[in-house]
Amino acid sequence: MKVIELLRNDGKPNVSYEIVPPKRGGSVSEILEIINQLMEYEPPFVDVTSHSAQIYYEEQQDGSWRRHIKRKRPGTLGLCAAIKGKFGIETVPHLLCKGFTREESEDALIELNYLGIQNVMALRGDDGGFKKPVIGDRTRNEYAVDLVRQIHSMNTGHYLEELIDAAPTDFCVGVAGYPEKHFEAPNLKWDISNLKAKIEAGAEYVTTQMFFDNNAFFDFESRCRKAGITVPIIPGLKVLTSKKQLQTLPSRFYLQVPEELASDIESAKDADVPEIGIRWAIKQCDELLGAGFSNLHFYIIQTPQHVAQVVTELRKRA
Ligand code: FAD
Repeated sequence: MKVIELLRNDGKPNVSYEIVPPKRGGSVSEILEIINQLMEYEPPFVDVTSHSAQIYYEEQQDGSWRRHIKRKRPGTLGLCAAIKGKFGIETVPHLLCKGFTREESEDALIELNYLGIQNVMALRGDDGGFKKPVIGDRTRNEYAVDLVRQIHSMNTGHYLEELIDAAPTDFCVGVAGYPEKHFEAPNLKWDISNLKAKIEAGAEYVTTQMFFDNNAFFDFESRCRKAGITVPIIPGLKVLTSKKQLQTLPSRFYLQVPEELASDIESAKDADVPEIGIRWAIKQCDELLGAGFSNLHFYIIQTPQHVAQVVTELRKRA
C-alpha cells in the first residue's frame, strides 16, 4: 500500500518510524530486532534513511580526476525489502540526489519496483556529492524537486532512455519540509515556495524535520496551507535522551531546543535525561493529536525503547 493510503485522521496515534541502516560491516539483525520491538505498536510504515558514499576527487598529473570513496553506508533498498518481507509492513526507502547519478536513481527505482516497494522519500541529501562534474554523459539531480520530477516521469512511463516494454511505475513520493526553515534558505517563505514546487512536481505528502517546539510546526503548517499546499504534512519527532544532544541536534539539524526543555535537561542527572525527553515528547504528541495530527513520525537511531514508552503512553490515552 501507499503511504498516502495508510495515513489516518481519526484522532488516534498512527506512528511511523525512521531508522538508519547499519554501517558497512554492521549487523542487519540489530535493525530487524529494532523493527521487531516496534511491531507491537503497529507502525503504518517504516522509513529507511540513505547515505551517499563520502567521495573525494584527487586531481591527477594528467589533469584527470580520480574518485575515492571514504565511507559507505549501503543497504537501504535491501533493508526495505527485508523488513517488508519479514514483517509485512510498508517501507519507505530514502533516495538522494547527492552522490548519485540520475541513471543510478533510475536503476534503484526499477529495483524497488521489482521488489514491490511503492513508496519513496525524495531528498537532496547534503554531503558526499560529486565535487566535480559527473563523469562522461551521466547526469544528476540538483534539488529534490528534480528527483521528484524524475520519479513522476517514470510513473508516467518515461524513462531516461527509450526502454523497450518499460511499464510505468506507481510510486507514492514523500518529500522533506522544515518547520524551522532549511538552513540554506534565506527565509521560510522562500523555503515553502520550494516545498510547493516539490508537491506540484508530484510529491504526495511531506514529512518534517524533527522539532521540539510545536509552535514552530503549527506556524509552518498554517503557512504551507496559506501557500496552497494541501497534501498531508506529517510532524517529525524525536525523544531527546542525552545532554550531548542539546548541542549535536541543533548543529546537525538546525533546530532550536526550547528554553524550558534545555534547562530541565541541563540541571538533571545524566540518568534522568531520557525520562525528561520522554515526558516532553508525550506532551508534544498530546498537543499535536489534540490539534488533529494523528500521523506522527519518530526518528530513531538505536534506542527504540524510549519511543516505545512514548507510544505506549499515547495508546493508553487514545
Ligand atoms: P531540497 O528540497 O532540494 O531543498 C534544499 C535547499 O534548496 C532548501 O533550502 C530549498 O529551499 C532550496 N531549493 C530547493 N529547490 C530549489 C531551487 N530550484 N532553486 C534554489 N533553491 C532551491 N539526508 C540524508 O542524507 N539521508 C536521508 O535519508 C535523509 N532523510 C531525511 C528525512 C527527512 C524527513 C528530512 C526532513 C530530511 C532528511 N535528510 C536526509 C536531510 C536532507 O537531505 C537535507 O536536509 C538536505 O539539506 C535537503 O534536502 P531536501 O530534500 O529538503 O532538499
